[in-house]
Amino acid sequence: MASFRDRLASQASMEANRLRERIGDLEAMQVPIFNIVRSLQIWLMTQPMDWSLYGFSLIEGDVRGICINAQHPEPMQRFTCAHELGHLVLGHKTNIDHSVNVDSASGSPQELQAQSFASTFMMPVANVYRGLKVIGTSEGQLSPSDAYRLARILDVSFAALCWRLVEMEIIGRDLARRWIRSGPAAARRAIADEVVTSDLTILYGDARAHGRVGDKVVVDIQDHADSGYEWRPVGSREPSSRVRWDGSADVSSLLEAYEGSSLLSLTAAGEEDITIELVRPWEHRDAIETRSITVEVAPEHSIELLDETQRIALRQRASS
Ligand SMILES: [Zn+2]
Repeated sequence: MASFRDRLASQASMEANRLRERIGDLEAMQVPIFNIVRSLQIWLMTQPMDWSLYGFSLIEGDVRGICINAQHPEPMQRFTCAHELGHLVLGHKTNIDHSVNVDSASGSPQELQAQSFASTFMMPVANVYRGLKVIGTSEGQLSPSDAYRLARILDVSFAALCWRLVEMEIIGRDLARRWIRSGPAAARRAIADEVVTSDLTILYGDARAHGRVGDKVVVDIQDHADSGYEWRPVGSREPSSRVRWDGSADVSSLLEAYEGSSLLSLTAAGEEDITIELVRPWEHRDAIETRSITVEVAPEHSIELLDETQRIALRQRASS
């Protein structure tokens, strides 16, 4: 029989699914949580806070607000935002989260519920399975680097993803603890074969890549340098103001493990289709191979602060 805590968690998870249904049209793999919160007439702001403080939710009369720690990386802010939304949707009182406990084995019943809500809302079962398909891994063979890739696809933190995999009984609790302890850096290192850049997204073949401004996308393509062929973006060496082509020459020194791969630097938010072709630069013939890549670039920070009027009103409501 399910325990009391299990029942609380599954109730919260059902609420999350209900809200997703009510909002409708939520096909995105990266749940646009900030926009959703705003569309629910909830005030959303970020503020630099002590690292240990994740955020808080606030209810005053008919006003509902969420404030998130601006110091945290955005995938973490996104999850905290969903956690705070959980508190609001589930009718919990004003709540300050010093540390969002992502381990559903501990924490107060309300925290457990907010966590379960956030987990389901940000990583619905269908999205997790779709993500696994994109990576091309089956449940039983999941490695930490697969989990890292999946976290990037869903734009959630590595830890949040690991706990979701536990909830879905894809990995065990002990394994999740071990992965989280080793940290996302270890998973990333495994991908880049001991060579780590600060933000690395791996793109396998023709696909979509998701990243943030400042990320680098490694495009896994065959090197033909010996034959004089080179991969070049169609048009020019500057395909757009959004994505900068770093060329394969830069890569061989940076990522020996990715001999023949190339780097794209993501420099501005938005979506960009890039076509690259394999040509001999000195020849004016058709390319012998072309590849298309769609890169979705999220802004570095997607929450703007409230304007001054809203801020004053929120503060007044909170202190009255
Ligand atoms: Zn909480």
